[in-house]
Amino acid sequence: MTVVTNPAIRTRFAPSPTGFMHVGNLRTALYEYLIAKSLGGTFVLRIEDTDQERYVDGAVDIIYKTLKTAGLIHDEGPDIGGDFGPYVQSQRMDLYKPYAEELVKSGHAYYCFCTKERLAALHEAGGVEGGYDRHCRDLSPEEVKKNLEAGVPYVIRQKMPLEGETTFHDCVYGDITVQNKELEDQILLKADGYPTYNFANIIDDHLMKISHVVRGSEYLSSTPKYNLCYEAFGWEIPTYVHLPLIMGKNEDGSVSKLSKRHGATGFEDLVAQGFMPEAIINYIALLGWCPKDNQEVFSLEELCKAFSIDGISKSPAVFDYDKLEWFNGEYIRKMSQEEFIEFAKPELEKFPMITPDLYPLFTEIMQPRITRLPQISEKLGFLLELADYDLELYVHKKSKTTKEGSLEMLNIVLPMLHEIEWTKDALSEYLTGLAEGMGIKNALVMWPVRIAASGTAVTPGGAVEVLLLLGKEEALKRIESGRQRLSEALSQ
Ligand code: GLU
Repeated sequence: MTVVTNPAIRTRFAPSPTGFMHVGNLRTALYEYLIAKSLGGTFVLRIEDTDQERYVDGAVDIIYKTLKTAGLIHDEGPDIGGDFGPYVQSQRMDLYKPYAEELVKSGHAYYCFCTKERLAALHEAGGVEGGYDRHCRDLSPEEVKKNLEAGVPYVIRQKMPLEGETTFHDCVYGDITVQNKELEDQILLKADGYPTYNFANIIDDHLMKISHVVRGSEYLSSTPKYNLCYEAFGWEIPTYVHLPLIMGKNEDGSVSKLSKRHGATGFEDLVAQGFMPEAIINYIALLGWCPKDNQEVFSLEELCKAFSIDGISKSPAVFDYDKLEWFNGEYIRKMSQEEFIEFAKPELEKFPMITPDLYPLFTEIMQPRITRLPQISEKLGFLLELADYDLELYVHKKSKTTKEGSLEMLNIVLPMLHEIEWTKDALSEYLTGLAEGMGIKNALVMWPVRIAASGTAVTPGGAVEVLLLLGKEEALKRIESGRQRLSEALSQ
């Protein structure tokens, strides 16, 4: 928990536990966190689980785990408490109804007894402008009383003004004005007594003293309705920060809302693909926010200092997987050797030949070459198994190697390689010394040795590195096998 220097600044991340953590949700959480922290405020976690039908088991754990892994540590929330709990909406169920009834009393809401069948018929008939035809809006007090006493199921609807307009200010989108007659008399309290999301968020944001409401732009159209509620209660309206959509790039170059067909969209999925939480957070911070200078790589701490609401843009941000990969590479390169080894552990486990004494070499050749973790296996797969490679690999025009020359070279180096100490210095000294002694280019020695040892044209590191990673026994076995294959092929 960080020190709160400005108690008036309070943001909340209010996810609904409906499944995995989409990068859009994570960006909302990040911006709420950054707004709170950049202003010395408090970051609150509230679980919005009133929609029981959409509830997914385990989703709350994913929320906790993601926030923790991403470093977005909340100051108040269901697991740690705080002065404004409970922080789970389903545990606050008793408190919404009196507020809805208060709005009925003050003339800003009304009981609606319309049956599901009537509403369905209305919908089927093509609906009406405003969604609901305001059928129960003008029931007489006697009719309402009679229905309530008879136990007729009801919902409570917000009574929108039929004239005039409502204007609100959003920090990103500016002033937005809507005609009141276009606003639906939306449901505040459902027949089961539960509030709708639309109502619960108003009450909770007020009771939790939230100063900045940060959320996706899909909520912009509902905001005038929320404001009419705030006004009806006489409550202060929070500062709104609506965030632009996140788009994905389609194959034809067009863009559409980011979805699975563009690539992984969940935080955990991205991590599983080898992206580092820090790199994801850094990249996501820039999806809709532009720093004042051209800095791109930011730690979370630096983001807390640099972030400001006026840098948020309203144009849709495009999620660029290549750019994320670039960030990941930058983060990988910033690691110390210990950090890199720790990071690479899941991959290293697949390569028993890379023993701790080889970690410095492994780091030296792999750290600059990868942008994602699984690339280690892709690039070092040859260590696990020697492919049945094509002997044409020994022919390299630029280095002027040939199959005959390669065979000759392998015949020369093999006996000596059996004898020498398996260290970087000894191997390089011997192989380069050999080329020098023969008055030929290094490549004429190194190329055949590397091909025989790896069975592939491209390896991270050169012949010496490959020999060291393989270990003496395996390396010699492979070179012997290469020598035999060349000799058989050439004697035919
Ligand atoms: N529970 C809403 C959601 O997950 C939160 C919207 C808001 O932040 O107000 O989309």
